[in-house]
This record gives sequence, C-alpha cells and structure tokens, in this order.
Amino acid sequence: MLHRAGAVVAATAAALVLGAPSAHAAPEVAVREDGRQLRAIELARQVAERQQELAALNRRADAHDRALIGRKELLARYGYRGDPDAVRVVLPMASYDLSAGFGLTGPLWEAEHGGQDFSAGAGEPLVAVAGGVVTEVAYAGPYGLRTILELPDGTEVWYCHQTDVTVAAGQQVEVADVVGSVGSTGNSTGPHLHLEVRPAGGSPVDPMDWLRAAGLTP
Ligand SMILES: [Zn+2]
Repeated sequence: MLHRAGAVVAATAAALVLGAPSAHAAPEVAVREDGRQLRAIELARQVAERQQELAALNRRADAHDRALIGRKELLARYGYRGDPDAVRVVLPMASYDLSAGFGLTGPLWEAEHGGQDFSAGAGEPLVAVAGGVVTEVAYAGPYGLRTILELPDGTEVWYCHQTDVTVAAGQQVEVADVVGSVGSTGNSTGPHLHLEVRPAGGSPVDPMDWLRAAGLTP
C-alpha cells in the first residue's frame, strides 16, 4: 500500500508539471502559475524523498525476513530450488511483472531495447543474480542510477533505473545479496528494473535466455 501511495503522489506531481503555464499567460496568471510550478518541484522533491524512505523500509524488512528464514527458502524466493550449496544464478527480484522485452524498438529507446524490464513497486529489493564484483555505481544518463556487476567469467550485469544502491564499486557480492532497489531514475516511465547481460562486457544478450540457460524460469 505504501508503494501505491507513492505512485499517486508521483502522478499528481507529474500532472502539475504537465499542467505548467504557457509563456503567454497574463502577468497575474503567470505569478499564480509560477507558484504552481514551485509546488510541483517541491512535490517532486518530496516524492523522491518518500521513495528513498520506502527503499530504506523495504531493506530493513528484507533484512529482517532474511534473518528469520533459511537459505533454501531465501533462494527459492529468487527462483532457485536446488541445493543451496550449489547455487550459481538466481532471479534479480522476488516479485515482479515482466514488461518490455529484449530487442524491441520504439520511441522509448534510442536503439534496440538492450535488456529485459521487470516492473515492480519502487523500493523492491534487487539482488545479485550471481556472485561477482561491483565495478561501477553511477548515474548513467538514460539508464538512471546504474550498478554494473562483473561475474568471474567477465559477464557484465547491469541494474538500471534504481532508487538507491547498497553496494559500492570494488565490492565483492555473493549470489542473492541485496545490491539496490527498484526505481524510476533516468529514461523511465515508471518503477522497474532494466536488466542487461553483456557477456565479456560486450554487446547485450537477451537476459531471459541467459537466466533460462542457468535453469531458472523468469
Ligand atoms: Zn528497459
């Protein structure tokens, strides 16, 4: 429910911004509409702040859950049901809806869509799909707040549009460790994870194929 409240506020802020005045308004209208714009900016700031708070709340709840459940159950949340000692790859999130797929073209993307989108509420925890090293955490234009995880075989996994992150460049992470949370930063129309998989750091491949090849059912 908290997520939904945040979304409503975000929509309201967006509507206010979209309803911004024209440059040709009469002076008294312009003053009033300047006020509207300032309120819209303030609302947008409050939305961002609220999403950060939600992400922090989610993280605490997730950490609490993790302390209570066993490793096997935790991994099962991320689609892995085998021997916990043999786990290599898991899904990036416990709960999501698949949205835009790999290779699509359209007005949202400069070129072909280079990843798979997983829609979820802002603040939903994101986990390492495999053990590796975080090589970059930064805002990256249309990708928004992006974390790059490099696996031992050189494959890069990109987590884009995050609200915030819980890892830093140079950090080693284990499979299913929390790395960040879902957001809508960068070129994004709503909270989702844009996941890219780039073998040897080269061109992206379909993350769905990559996850399925690892025995998962995304
Ligand atoms: Zn995407």
